[in-house]
Order: sequence, then C-alpha cells, then structure tokens
Amino acid sequence: MNTNGDTPNNNDKIVENDARSDFVRDIVKEDLKTNKFDGRVVTRFPPEPNGYLHIGHAKAINLNFGIAQEFGGKFHLRFDDTNPTKEETEYVESITNDVRWLGADWGDNLFYASDYFDQMHAYAVDLIKKGKAYVCDCPHSEVSKMRGTLTAPGTPCPHRDRSIDENLDLFDRMHKGEFPDGSKTLRAKIDLSSPNINMRDPIMYRILHASHHRTGDKWCIYPMYDWAHGIEDSIEKITHSICTLEFENHRPLYDWFLDELGVYHPQQIEFARLNLTYTVMSKRKLLELVKGKFVSGWDDPRMPTISGMRRRGYTPQAIRNFCKRIGVNKFNSTVDFQLLEYFVREDLNKNAPRVMGVLNPLKVVITNYPDGQTEELDAVNNPEDPSAGTRKVPFSKVLYIEQDDFMENPPKKFFRLSPGKEVRLRYAYFITCTDVIKDANGEIIELHCTYDPATRGGDAPDGRKVKATLHWVSADHALDAELRLYEHLFSKPNPNEVEEGHDYKENLNPNSLTVLKNCKIEPSVKNAPIETRYQFERQGYFSIDPDSTPGNLVFNRIATLKDTWAKIQTAETTR
Ligand code: ATP
Ligand code: MG
Repeated sequence: MNTNGDTPNNNDKIVENDARSDFVRDIVKEDLKTNKFDGRVVTRFPPEPNGYLHIGHAKAINLNFGIAQEFGGKFHLRFDDTNPTKEETEYVESITNDVRWLGADWGDNLFYASDYFDQMHAYAVDLIKKGKAYVCDCPHSEVSKMRGTLTAPGTPCPHRDRSIDENLDLFDRMHKGEFPDGSKTLRAKIDLSSPNINMRDPIMYRILHASHHRTGDKWCIYPMYDWAHGIEDSIEKITHSICTLEFENHRPLYDWFLDELGVYHPQQIEFARLNLTYTVMSKRKLLELVKGKFVSGWDDPRMPTISGMRRRGYTPQAIRNFCKRIGVNKFNSTVDFQLLEYFVREDLNKNAPRVMGVLNPLKVVITNYPDGQTEELDAVNNPEDPSAGTRKVPFSKVLYIEQDDFMENPPKKFFRLSPGKEVRLRYAYFITCTDVIKDANGEIIELHCTYDPATRGGDAPDGRKVKATLHWVSADHALDAELRLYEHLFSKPNPNEVEEGHDYKENLNPNSLTVLKNCKIEPSVKNAPIETRYQFERQGYFSIDPDSTPGNLVFNRIATLKDTWAKIQTAETTR
C-alpha cells in the first residue's frame, strides 16, 4: 500500500518475478547444452567513448552483465575507441563511473580496442596476402556510390584487381603516413553483387592523421567498426556478442571477416534498442543539447543519461528493475517514460525517508501557542519500513504551510484550510484558522490560527475528525532551500517526429525546469550528503543536488507522488 493517499498499487509482484527468460538467454542456454563454447559465457559492453551513457545503454549493460552473472560467466567492459576524432578521456571516465554505478562489475576485464591496433593491422596484411583485401584510391563518396543500391549491384573500381604485392606496398605506405587523409582506403574483396550492401567490398581502413586519446600519433590509419569489432570480440574470446538490431545486416560481414582470418569466432546476437517517450537517445543529439547549452550539461537532471538520472535521484535499483521489466526482444518499440518513473517511485517508496518541506510557504501564527516555546514531536521516517524508526520534528508558534493548502473562499469540495475550518498538522495538532492577514495590495501574507493542545500527535481524544492533514515546518527551525522541479525535456512523445525543414529542438519543453527559491525544509535533513533521497510528504521525491551547500540546500524533484501505473499498461506501445 502506498501511504500518500495515492491509489493503492498491487503490481509490486512484477519486479519480484526473477525467473528471466528471453531469446538471448535461450541461445546461451542452448550453447551451454551443446558445449559450443566449452561451457564458457563471456559477454561485453563495448561503448564508443564519444558521449555519456544513456538509459538505452543501461539496457545493454544489464543484459550483458546479467547474462554473465546468471550463467557464471565473465563480463568485459571494452572501450571501442577506434575513431580518434570524436573520443575524449572525459567520456571514458564518465562511462566507467556510470557502469559501476549501475552495479555491473567487470573485475579485471577492462579493455580498449586501441590496444588491438597492432593485431588488427597484422590481420589486415593477412587478408591482403590471401587476395581478400585491396587498396582503393577512390574517395569515400565514390566508394559509396560504386557500392550500388538495393536494386542495382555495385561496380568494381579500377583498383580492385591490383596485385597482392602492389596492395601490400600501398597499405604499408598508407600505414607509414605517405598519403593524405581520405586519399586511399583498404577494402575487403567480397562480392559487389551481394544483396547485402555491407558485403560489397566494405572499407576496412581509412587514412586519418589524427591523434588518438591512447595511442597518440602512432597511427594514421584507423580501422572501421565492422572490421574492428569482430576482431575485438575474437581476441577477448567473447562467446555471445550482443548488439542492437541495426547490426543484423552486418552479421554476415562480422562472420566473413572472422572466417577468412580463421580465428576464434563468437556468436553475434541482435536485440531491439530501447526508445523512451519524451526524450531523444541519439548521442549526436544529446551532444548537441549539451554544446548548445539547451541543458546544463550531460548530467542535467532532465537528460536521459545515466549521470543525469543519477543527479536527478533515480536509483540504480530502479533502473535495473525497469530494464528487467521491459525485457529483451527483436522488435523496436518505444517504452512510455511513465514506466521508468513507476519503478523509480516504487523503489523510493520503500527506501526514501519521509520529511516535511514546504515549496511555496505561507506563514501561520498559532495565536494561543506560548511565545518562545518549542516542542519536539515524533514523526515516522518511513511507514513502509518500520525499521527506519522515528525522528523529532520541532513545533513552535510560527509555522509555514503550503500556499495551496489555504483558500479564503473555498469551493465546496476544498477540505484543506480556510477561515473557520479545522485541519490536522501532520504529527502535531489540529488547528483552526481565525484570521487572514493581507498586505496593502490585498495579498494574503499570514494566517492566524488557534491550536487544540488536546490533539497533540494528531488525534482528537473526543474522536472528532478533520478532512485534511497538512505538512508544515517550524519557521525558526526551517532550512532554506532551492527546489528544482522538472517536466519532460521534450513536449512531444516522439520529439524526433518533425515536419520537413523543422528540427527536433523545436520540441524542447519550455517548462521542463521550474526553480523555487524560497522553500522551507525541516531541520533533520541538515547535514545529509549529496544524492540523499527523501520523500517530501505530499510533494514528491527529492534528492540533494551537487550544487547544494550547507547554507543553501538544493534539491531536485525526482518524481511526483502520483502513481500512474494503471495508465501505463495501456500506454505501452509497439511500433
Ligand atoms: P553511436 O554508435 O551512434 O555512437 P550507440 O548508442 O550505438 O551510438 P555505442 O557506444 O556504440 O553507442 O553503444 C554501446 C552499446 O550500447 C552497443 O552495443 C549498442 O548496441 C548499445 N546501445 C546503444 N544504444 C542503445 C539503446 N537505445 N538500447 C539498447 N542498447 C543500446
Ligand atoms: Mg554504436
């Protein structure tokens, strides 16, 4: 049961169902049965360090790490750093932190594709010697054109039939730096009329006089993804090379390279990538949002990045539960953001201590309460977890309540505070509003109320009832805080869907961030470290932002309290 007056949720069982099965795990099980890989299971997560990780990557990490763990195998973290121009050490560091934070443990198995450059080069020479690769002098644009289309076969270029010796010589001179960028490529000699365009003599190496974050200026030729990736997997003796669906058409090439080299051959398996509503997941777009200052950085709490979600206050457990729930399949689909939020709430409801915080304060003076007196009242830390115990909350003559919780002229169904009305202050007393104080402009600045001392703790001994319980803080004891409230970064479920001549950035939600500067929080949160998460009663889940200082607390709203699970079940879409 949720304790916040929300609709009860009875769907907790879906996260407890741990018996996982999906088509990838079925393949692994079958391979173990047939002893295909001598009983080994080795998976990897191979990010290119050209951006921060996002929630889609979490799906891939969970899948790969989960399989390694469940089958007693190994999990590798490998930086696929074959492209020197877009890669930076900052990304390597953030990725390492994020994978660790998500709970995936690679042990000693941290690798860099760039460490295999020598081996890749030697393998390329092997293919040339076998007559399976050639140096092509055509510019990239020509190469693409000559590879044909889905309906027209590719055409050979004049360099395709160079002698092995000439190819070896030219490749060596490419390697030594004799030629300018883009002037030559090494191409695999496969089949220009293959129905699969990837097989029409794909480029293996290109010339790029660029410094690499690890190998410096040692190389001026860099391997293309398709050539490099299988070799990386092979060197590491990966068993199941799990990647996203767009690589399905590349699998024949993956297999061709490894077969021609005659080296250890992992099994590539493709699954559907994760898409989420109201956000974008392309690293190029996320980079653009960062560079263009549409967000405060990669870790902006509105970003779908792991570091953004971490800063927002999402827990690794919630993200893992979400990944478990969405599962793995072969069909591209878009998952409703609310499903992710459901798991965030579900985890925080169990684990986040409750405190009281007032977002938009309205001063309340308890006229019959003794001046200068303070009482320490007992408050329950987490009704979902009795072991969390209780804390003391100070009560005194001047308090703050939420502006929204008072109406001078309330409609019929308004049960909170209004003139003459009695309500409960959570864990404290019943109070009744007697006077409304206004400034010269007629704005309400203060309420006068009386309290009933007999209702201490929040219950009336005579059994009388009130229809509302308000949260509050004691003015003298409250901590000042800035609260950052968030909405979706984009205002459309699919921000990428734009008309001709328009840009996804036009779909950015202008209201995605609201900053409240004058919030008042109960003193118990005083020395809590960055990232501590709370439920502010009735207001949602909040976490302490790294911008926070002892004098100026800053909180991010992680999520509101409302539970929208019922809606989710119908909103999940498959495309
Ligand atoms: P790009 O290659 O365009 O830079 P990418 O998102 O594929 O972007 P990688 O660093 O290559 O980035 O991704 C690392 C791994 O994460 C890959 O195995 C990839 O298949 C997987 N991955 C990336 N995006 C998603 C997603 N949305 N859902 C699931 N897995 C993903
Ligand atoms: Mg990729």
